[in-house]
Amino acid sequence: MRFDIVTLFPAIFDGYLTQSLLDKAIQRKLVEIHRHDLRDWAADTPHRKVDDRPFGGGPGMLIQVHTTVDCVEAVETMDAKPARRILLSPGGKRFDQPLAEDLATSDRIMLLCGRYEGFDQRVVDILQPEEVSVGDFVLNGGEVAAMVIVDAVVRLLPGVLGDENSCIEDSFSRGNRLLEFPQYTRPREYRGHEVPSVLLGGDHKAIADWRDAQSRERTRQRRSDLLPENKPNN
Ligand code: SAM
Repeated sequence: MRFDIVTLFPAIFDGYLTQSLLDKAIQRKLVEIHRHDLRDWAADTPHRKVDDRPFGGGPGMLIQVHTTVDCVEAVETMDAKPARRILLSPGGKRFDQPLAEDLATSDRIMLLCGRYEGFDQRVVDILQPEEVSVGDFVLNGGEVAAMVIVDAVVRLLPGVLGDENSCIEDSFSRGNRLLEFPQYTRPREYRGHEVPSVLLGGDHKAIADWRDAQSRERTRQRRSDLLPENKPNN
């Protein structure tokens, strides 16, 4: 899979791309991540200005339409595969595990990171990206949101995780869409807290039943909106 990240701050991704699972996935050629500095398409050289004041007044600056459209259209041609375009915006569709799973089936994703007060609306009108939000809060820019999406999607790609089953059983995932059950490792007892005995007995059916029950109970207590019976269209 190929990601193209359009940003005014490409260096924000430096550390992230060289760590842990993501670095390994890149080394093993399971994923390519290309960063593109929006300023490289700025008409106003040498200042490389990409923003301007909003018509109608108001605080802050907006990223201009022509620079963004030129950049996205040029980036699009850098690979033969068409890119699924995603514009990061607090006003977008909420990012969640089903969307991550859907994105993981794409060959190529382009992520447009806003800054300042965001993009001129005509960026959306012309480029028709999917607008995606990572939550009901406002970040300074789309870069952290882009990292959230890359991170959640890359771990779903075949071969990235050591055990493919872990991303089926994870919270919210396609196994049952509930929260994950509690997990324990050694020691068996610590400060009077013991590992539940069912996990030590080797009875796989009993362990699976216990985990199912724990997953349901944890979801009921913390996120009852996730239970199938509480889904709006149930
Ligand atoms: N004025 C915008 C609004 O109220 O919707 C917020 C602009 S924000 C300061 C700058 C950029 O950060 C946005 O254009 C977007 O790319 C990114 N951003 C901020 N919060 C986000 C969120 N919750 N999800 C995705 N992107 C976000």
